[in-house]
Amino acid sequence: MIAQVIVDVSTAAIDRPFDYSVPPQLEPFVKPGIRVHVPFGPRKVQGFVIGIADSSTVDLHKLKSVASVVDVDPVLTTEMLELANWLRDDTLSFYNDALQVMIPAALRANYSKICKFVRVDLLSEAMKQLLSRDGEVDFTNIEKNQLTHELKQQLDDGNASIETRIRQKTKPKLQTVYQVLSTSIELTKGAKKQQAVLTWIQQHDIKSFTMEDIQQHLQVTSSVVEALVEKEILQKTKQEIYREIALLADISKDKVVELTDSQLQVLEQVKEAQHQDVSTTFLLHGITGSGKTEIYLHAIEEALALGKEAIMLVPEIALTPQMVTRFKMRFGDQVAVMHSGLSAGEKYDEWRKIHRREVRVVVGARSAIFAPFENLGLVILDEEHESSYKQEDSPRYHAREVAKWRAQYAKCPVILGSATPSIESYARAKKGVYTLLELPNRANAKELPPVELIDMREQLKGGNRSMFSIELIEAIRDRLNKNEQIVLFLNKRGFSSFVLCRDCGSTVQCPNCDISLTYHRMGEALRCHYCGYEEMVPAQCPHCESEHIRYFGTGTQKVEEELTKLFPEARTLRMDVDTTRTKGAHERILHHFGKREADILLGTQMIAKGLDFPEVTLVGVLNADTSLHLADFRAAEKTFQLITQVSGRAGRHQKKGHVIVQTYDPQHYALVCAQTHDYKAFYSQEMQMRKAYQYPPFYYLTHIQISHPDVIQTADYAAKTADWLRERLTTSTAVIGPTASAISRIQDRYRYQCMLKYKQDPNLIPSLHQLLKMARTDWEKQGVRISIDLHPSTIV
Ligand code: ADP
Ligand code: ZN
Ligand code: ZN
Repeated sequence: MIAQVIVDVSTAAIDRPFDYSVPPQLEPFVKPGIRVHVPFGPRKVQGFVIGIADSSTVDLHKLKSVASVVDVDPVLTTEMLELANWLRDDTLSFYNDALQVMIPAALRANYSKICKFVRVDLLSEAMKQLLSRDGEVDFTNIEKNQLTHELKQQLDDGNASIETRIRQKTKPKLQTVYQVLSTSIELTKGAKKQQAVLTWIQQHDIKSFTMEDIQQHLQVTSSVVEALVEKEILQKTKQEIYREIALLADISKDKVVELTDSQLQVLEQVKEAQHQDVSTTFLLHGITGSGKTEIYLHAIEEALALGKEAIMLVPEIALTPQMVTRFKMRFGDQVAVMHSGLSAGEKYDEWRKIHRREVRVVVGARSAIFAPFENLGLVILDEEHESSYKQEDSPRYHAREVAKWRAQYAKCPVILGSATPSIESYARAKKGVYTLLELPNRANAKELPPVELIDMREQLKGGNRSMFSIELIEAIRDRLNKNEQIVLFLNKRGFSSFVLCRDCGSTVQCPNCDISLTYHRMGEALRCHYCGYEEMVPAQCPHCESEHIRYFGTGTQKVEEELTKLFPEARTLRMDVDTTRTKGAHERILHHFGKREADILLGTQMIAKGLDFPEVTLVGVLNADTSLHLADFRAAEKTFQLITQVSGRAGRHQKKGHVIVQTYDPQHYALVCAQTHDYKAFYSQEMQMRKAYQYPPFYYLTHIQISHPDVIQTADYAAKTADWLRERLTTSTAVIGPTASAISRIQDRYRYQCMLKYKQDPNLIPSLHQLLKMARTDWEKQGVRISIDLHPSTIV
């Protein structure tokens, strides 16, 4: 018996299966989809068995043998092995990377396989000898004693079972909690900060808190709090941080809604496809609150009723406790949840539930698309336009493409859902490649909130230099008076990466590409990432000669400070990377806001989606422009999506909502269309632009990045790459660049990039393969690294 093995080494020379003979005692366990240890050169390495054969082209006496097995049960199904094959082609990645991405990280570490028996009296004396006092024996021990055939027999007879145990490295996480012992102590006059803490405790009747909690409200350091511990006002304790996602609502309170007519129509079409043996891809375009999630839940129910399984993907950022709660309510223990907040061990636990068929639904972020179901009946991608569905390192796959592949394989439908579908997907639906389903109204008949665009140039002319317009300030004051809640959104996308004139609102554009030039701090330069054009940051605006031109950006912390000055009485919660660094912080902030312990929720992208709070009647977008001027052909699309998503947070229930969007460019079609909630108008304008400037979906792009510790070498090799490709590709393919990347140095490596723009080029894939091979064998020795992205989601 010969095993074909992909070894766990990602280099070009080794990117193919190697043959190994299988010793007789391992034969019962070696099959496609398990991992083995094999000798490789002087070392022993792990590898995936991708196939079994009777003979090998390698000389028998030269053939090495499998040393041991890592798994006793395949970790990859037949489908996954085929998928890996497709994946490596589609993403130009190593075979090994394509296989590794499909299994949970915990499985990459060592784990032990413990064998247990029901009736010990049925075992051989040799086996009995190995049993521990608990009646267990480690698989490696059985292997060493050549008792694998007996074990296999016992397994087949149902007298044995094998349990895998991950060696848990993760200890429970502890955090410091301060408990309030007494507040009736007089402090000395000088201790102002300590007094502030006491006042905060008294006013809010606080019993215990963490540093993080208090820093949400007060600017105090831990030394202030520690001083209060000294005075025995507070007591310091350690508590475990719970890993389980906190569920917001009572699980038993699932409300059954009657579907609207449009929901029923949509569901009917999906169900019909579920009963057929072909794969249909649906694009479900439904405005926020139109009841898409309700459709997903029903379609999943149908899949389960047909005895099949379902994968539901949501962007990491939208995997909120609210979302998870809804699925747990509907499907209870049938659901596994996979998100990045879980530890490696917990992720593995969830994966194992799927592997063992204990669950039939998985809700998760990108990587959940590799859930090892074998009877898939439905795949859903909610918010299909989200860029987090694309993995940015090898293998550079897009979950949407993997979803379609798996649905083809299983002959089941895919639903791509969004209020703001990606331009590419909508174009496909228009062409009939996808089936378009529409939900044009909110399910509860609540109207979408009015959106008001505020021209910040006018504010400046009127003498208002603050980041809050008069209109927004008044609206906030009004809601505070009425005791209603407010969400303020700071757009951090494209942050500080361009210069903007605050008088006329224009940015400096590339004369060739109609894209904002990107600001590079080094050398105060502006560069075009598409064509390499470069100029200095101007001292005056090229349009209106104002000197108020500077690179643009503010942090949430600065906004919070200004907010506190304007509204000292308002209680603000801030949600950004700084306040959500610790585990569970995200949920905690939302929980506090949901319980109305704060008036204002201030945050970045994180708050744009999925949240559903009845008392929010005002949404403010502080700076719509940052994402508008990203040096990316998707800048307008991303801005439209963002504004639409944030607007969807207001007035979802009884009270009417209102949205205020501040901008320096109120005429921009992305904003005008978002204001009128008009996706179709946006789509047709955007398509005109894409056509005129030759971007997707009219043309394809490929992004090539070269990096090296030395800047001259980087530029050299990038130029070499571009020239090499120009010689080989057809003349209709444009090779653009090389230019320095937006982040021109990461981890001491300089980065240059080239872009390919093409419609059809038969030479492309073969040339890229050749380029990769050359770069990975010869150039790598010179310290050069290359990466190729065939479907870049962003090109900044
Ligand atoms: P989407 O996913 O499109 O944003 P949801 O499915 O979350 O929309 O629905 C939005 C809100 O409307 C939710 O509170 C949901 O419970 C409610 N809802 C959905 N369908 C109906 C219906 N048919 N009747 C009444 N309420 C509904
Ligand atoms: Zn100007
Ligand atoms: Zn340019």
